[in-house]
Amino acid sequence: MPFVAHRAFGWAPIEINDSWGLQTIRSGMAYTICKSLRCRACSHLFCDIRFSDEEMNAIYAGYRDEAYVSLRDHYEPGYRTRNEGLVETITYKADIEAFLDPYISDPLTVLDWGGDTGSNTPYQQRRSSLDIFDISNKGVVPGARAVTREQAAAAAYRLVVCGQVLEHTPYPIKVLADIRRAMNDDSILYIEVPFEKIVQQGLPDCETHKRHWHEHINFYSQSSMAALLRSAGYEVLRQYILAVSVAGSDVQILQVACRPA
Ligand SMILES: [Zn+2]
Repeated sequence: MPFVAHRAFGWAPIEINDSWGLQTIRSGMAYTICKSLRCRACSHLFCDIRFSDEEMNAIYAGYRDEAYVSLRDHYEPGYRTRNEGLVETITYKADIEAFLDPYISDPLTVLDWGGDTGSNTPYQQRRSSLDIFDISNKGVVPGARAVTREQAAAAAYRLVVCGQVLEHTPYPIKVLADIRRAMNDDSILYIEVPFEKIVQQGLPDCETHKRHWHEHINFYSQSSMAALLRSAGYEVLRQYILAVSVAGSDVQILQVACRPA
């Protein structure tokens, strides 16, 4: 999508017309293209473009700040208004806690990997501490501490939360390896990703139906999530599909509880 191409690479769409004087190219809009790929083994659906660290920073530093919102509203008119709904706190924290309760114990030290400000991190009452690692570099909620990768790795948290992150990351297995360094044998990792509509449909040739890509460059099925976690050295305790309402739309999310294998 043009917003992502512009923010990651500085590639804006351009209109080719007769004034270019090209002999073999038709007039029309030129947009950035990419491929949709599907793993034959685990059915993971993904975009072939994998952003570098610099490109990830270009997209996510200052996430949803004024520069982000105005560029996105330019390409996607109406985004500014929609974003006001997205900035609200999620409504399903209690569902996350109910899902995780069987696996966690006190004192509940929490690391939220990609946790933004921490306003959506579960266990606000119960947790004894909250550290947040996030490349958006925003301020964090009172009582929380922003940490670097190295600071996170020096601790061993009882619970690590990684919600709505792995669908954005070019190398999810590297993120899971970094997270593993912040865990010990008693730690639990909670993962949450969108369970996208095209994955819900379960089409065998979903890659031919997936035409465009935005910030979500990985579309997980339960089988591809299980395969990823197995490769990354985790044991899956439970997966669940939760139906929720986010900013007025009904969506499904894939929840996973796992621990180091
Ligand atoms: Zn696979």
